[in-house]
Amino acid sequence: CGIVAYVGEREAYPILIKGLKRLEYRGYDSAGVALLGTRINLYKKQGKVSELEKYAEGKETASTIGIGHTRWATHGAPNDVNAHPHTSGDSNLALIHNGIIENYDSLKKELINRGHQFSSETDTEVLIHLIEEVKKIEKCSLLTAVQLALKEVIGAYAIVILSKEDPDTLIVAKKSSPLVIGVGEGEFYVASDATPIIEYTKNVLYLEDEDIAVLTKGEKIQLTNIKNQQKTANTIELEMK
Ligand code: GLU
Repeated sequence: CGIVAYVGEREAYPILIKGLKRLEYRGYDSAGVALLGTRINLYKKQGKVSELEKYAEGKETASTIGIGHTRWATHGAPNDVNAHPHTSGDSNLALIHNGIIENYDSLKKELINRGHQFSSETDTEVLIHLIEEVKKIEKCSLLTAVQLALKEVIGAYAIVILSKEDPDTLIVAKKSSPLVIGVGEGEFYVASDATPIIEYTKNVLYLEDEDIAVLTKGEKIQLTNIKNQQKTANTIELEMK
C-alpha cells in the first residue's frame, strides 16, 4: 500500500516514520521498517505506524539506509509476521512490495521444492526468495538477479530492496504500481507517491513499467529495465500546489 525508503547521509528511521505517516491517508493494516546496522534490523507491527514506533523504541534504529512499508493485506491475514519488509532465508536481503503477485502460488511451490522456507502467507515473500535463489544459481549481481527474477513474475509490483552486501545501495523496480524517486544531494528518497518526498526535494523521477533503478549514495541513478536496456534517468521538477 505505502512505500518509503531512503539512502544518503541522514538518519533513515525518522524519515521513514514521517513518510509512512504522510501515507496513512491511503489506509493500511500494519507497518514495518528494515534498517541496516551491523545486520538488517527488522521491526514490524500490526496496526498504526505509532504502534510500530512504540515497538521500535529503545531498539537499534541507527542507519543511513532503510525501507518502510504500510500494508493493505491482499494475501495473508493482517498480522506482524505478514507485515513487510520480508527477508531472504539468510537475512541478507529485505524487501517491501506494493501490489499483487498473481503467480505467487506456483513460484512458491517451486521455491519450497528447492529448499526455501517461508515464514509468511504473503504473495510478496516469493519475490525475495526468488531473487535470492536466482542470485545463488547464476552467481550474479543483485541487479541481474532482480532482472531475471522479475521476468518470472506475473502481476503488479512496486518494490524496494535492501542488501547487506551493498550497504549504500537500494534497488527499486515497478510494474503497474506507482513508484517515485526523489533525488537530493548525494541522497535518494523513494515513495509510492510524492507526498513523503516533497519536503526534501522537488527533483523527482517517476519510474515506467519494468524499470529498475539502482540508487547508490553519492552516485548518479543507474536506470535500466528487466530486459537490461540502459535508460537515461530524466528527473522532473515537482510542481507545488
Ligand atoms: N500483496 C501484498 C500483501 O498482501 C502487498 C499488499 C500492499 O500493497 O500493501 O502483503
